[in-house]
Amino acid sequence: MSEQAGERPLPAPAPAVNPETAEFWAATAAGRLLLKRCLNCGSVIWYPRAICPECSSLDTEWFAASGRGRVYSYTINYRPEGAYQDCAPLVLAYVELDEGPRMMTNIVGAGEADLAVGLPVEVEFHDTGEGSALPRFRPAAS
Ligand SMILES: [Zn+2]
Repeated sequence: MSEQAGERPLPAPAPAVNPETAEFWAATAAGRLLLKRCLNCGSVIWYPRAICPECSSLDTEWFAASGRGRVYSYTINYRPEGAYQDCAPLVLAYVELDEGPRMMTNIVGAGEADLAVGLPVEVEFHDTGEGSALPRFRPAAS
Protein backbone atom coordinates (compact mmCIF):
# COMPACT_ATOMS: atom_id res chain seq x y z
CA MET A 1 0.00 0.00 0.00
CA SER A 2 1.40 3.41 -0.92
CA GLU A 3 -1.29 5.29 1.01
CA GLN A 4 -0.37 6.26 4.56
CA ALA A 5 -2.70 4.85 7.16
CA GLY A 6 -4.86 7.58 8.65
CA GLU A 7 -3.95 10.24 6.05
CA ARG A 8 -7.37 10.56 4.42
CA PRO A 9 -9.63 13.13 6.12
CA LEU A 10 -12.16 11.31 8.26
CA PRO A 11 -15.83 12.26 8.53
CA ALA A 12 -16.71 13.78 11.90
CA PRO A 13 -20.31 12.83 12.64
CA ALA A 14 -21.85 14.68 15.59
CA PRO A 15 -22.22 12.55 18.72
CA ALA A 16 -25.46 12.13 20.65
CA VAL A 17 -25.16 14.56 23.57
CA ASN A 18 -26.97 14.03 26.87
CA PRO A 19 -26.86 15.91 30.21
CA GLU A 20 -24.04 13.65 31.48
CA THR A 21 -21.83 14.30 28.44
CA ALA A 22 -22.77 17.89 27.46
CA GLU A 23 -19.81 19.48 29.28
CA PHE A 24 -17.40 16.96 27.74
CA TRP A 25 -18.57 17.67 24.20
CA ALA A 26 -18.69 21.45 24.69
CA ALA A 27 -15.06 21.31 25.82
CA THR A 28 -14.03 19.32 22.75
CA ALA A 29 -15.39 22.12 20.57
CA ALA A 30 -12.99 24.44 22.40
CA GLY A 31 -10.08 22.04 21.89
CA ARG A 32 -10.02 20.68 25.44
CA LEU A 33 -10.21 17.06 26.57
CA LEU A 34 -12.03 16.73 29.90
CA LEU A 35 -12.20 13.69 32.14
CA LYS A 36 -14.05 13.10 35.39
CA ARG A 37 -12.49 12.17 38.70
CA CYS A 38 -14.32 10.62 41.64
CA LEU A 39 -13.82 12.72 44.76
CA ASN A 40 -14.72 9.75 46.98
CA CYS A 41 -12.36 7.00 45.69
CA GLY A 42 -10.06 8.91 43.30
CA SER A 43 -10.91 6.87 40.19
CA VAL A 44 -10.60 8.57 36.82
CA ILE A 45 -13.91 7.96 35.05
CA TRP A 46 -14.36 7.20 31.35
CA TYR A 47 -16.80 7.48 29.58
CA PRO A 48 -18.33 10.64 31.06
CA ARG A 49 -21.16 9.88 33.48
CA ALA A 50 -22.63 11.19 36.69
CA ILE A 51 -21.98 8.15 38.89
CA CYS A 52 -18.56 6.68 39.69
CA PRO A 53 -18.48 3.12 38.23
CA GLU A 54 -16.10 2.01 41.02
CA CYS A 55 -17.90 3.21 44.17
CA SER A 56 -21.25 4.63 42.95
CA SER A 57 -20.48 8.07 44.39
CA LEU A 58 -22.15 11.09 42.80
CA ASP A 59 -19.32 13.29 44.06
CA THR A 60 -17.29 13.77 40.87
CA GLU A 61 -15.50 16.65 39.18
CA TRP A 62 -14.28 17.50 35.70
CA PHE A 63 -10.60 18.10 35.08
CA ALA A 64 -8.50 18.85 31.99
CA ALA A 65 -6.65 15.81 30.67
CA SER A 66 -3.18 16.15 29.18
CA GLY A 67 -4.37 14.90 25.79
CA ARG A 68 -1.42 12.53 25.73
CA GLY A 69 -1.28 8.78 25.88
CA ARG A 70 -0.04 5.63 24.20
CA VAL A 71 -1.55 3.21 21.71
CA TYR A 72 -2.89 0.29 23.74
CA SER A 73 -4.19 -1.68 20.75
CA TYR A 74 -5.08 -0.96 17.15
CA THR A 75 -6.35 -2.46 13.93
CA ILE A 76 -6.18 -1.24 10.34
CA ASN A 77 -9.39 -1.40 8.33
CA TYR A 78 -8.68 -1.58 4.59
CA ARG A 79 -12.36 -1.73 3.65
CA PRO A 80 -14.29 0.67 5.86
CA GLU A 81 -17.98 1.07 5.09
CA GLY A 82 -20.66 3.74 5.05
CA ALA A 83 -19.50 7.31 5.63
CA TYR A 84 -15.94 6.00 6.04
CA GLN A 85 -15.76 4.04 2.78
CA ASP A 86 -13.35 6.49 1.14
CA CYS A 87 -11.04 6.62 4.18
CA ALA A 88 -9.03 3.42 3.75
CA PRO A 89 -6.76 2.53 5.34
CA LEU A 90 -8.52 3.57 8.56
CA VAL A 91 -6.87 3.04 11.95
CA LEU A 92 -9.16 2.15 14.85
CA ALA A 93 -7.42 2.09 18.21
CA TYR A 94 -7.63 2.10 21.95
CA VAL A 95 -5.45 4.85 23.37
CA GLU A 96 -4.47 4.58 27.02
CA LEU A 97 -4.48 8.14 28.29
CA ASP A 98 -1.74 9.28 30.67
CA GLU A 99 -4.52 9.65 33.26
CA GLY A 100 -5.41 5.95 32.92
CA PRO A 101 -8.62 5.47 30.91
CA ARG A 102 -8.57 3.71 27.55
CA MET A 103 -10.46 5.58 24.85
CA MET A 104 -11.62 4.08 21.56
CA THR A 105 -10.56 6.44 18.79
CA ASN A 106 -8.82 6.77 15.44
CA ILE A 107 -5.11 7.27 14.85
CA VAL A 108 -4.34 9.78 12.11
CA GLY A 109 -1.11 10.87 10.47
CA ALA A 110 0.76 7.64 11.07
CA GLY A 111 2.20 5.38 8.41
CA GLU A 112 1.68 1.67 8.91
CA ALA A 113 5.37 1.28 9.70
CA ASP A 114 4.99 3.89 12.47
CA LEU A 115 2.06 2.19 14.19
CA ALA A 116 2.89 0.15 17.23
CA VAL A 117 1.51 -0.76 20.61
CA GLY A 118 3.01 1.74 23.03
CA LEU A 119 3.40 4.51 20.42
CA PRO A 120 3.14 7.92 22.17
CA VAL A 121 0.22 9.91 20.76
CA GLU A 122 -1.48 13.25 21.36
CA VAL A 123 -5.04 14.36 20.86
CA GLU A 124 -6.41 16.53 18.09
CA PHE A 125 -10.00 17.53 17.56
CA HIS A 126 -12.11 17.10 14.43
CA ASP A 127 -14.96 19.60 14.37
CA THR A 128 -18.42 18.14 13.78
CA GLY A 129 -19.84 21.56 12.90
CA GLU A 130 -22.50 21.07 15.57
CA GLY A 131 -20.85 22.38 18.74
CA SER A 132 -18.64 19.36 19.35
CA ALA A 133 -15.46 17.80 18.04
CA LEU A 134 -14.21 14.22 17.94
CA PRO A 135 -11.01 13.50 19.85
CA ARG A 136 -8.61 11.59 17.63
CA PHE A 137 -4.91 10.99 18.07
CA ARG A 138 -1.70 11.34 16.07
CA PRO A 139 1.88 10.38 16.88
CA ALA A 140 3.25 12.75 19.51
CA ALA A 141 5.61 15.44 18.29
CA SER A 142 8.12 13.96 20.81
ZN1 LIG B 1 -15.52 6.43 43.18
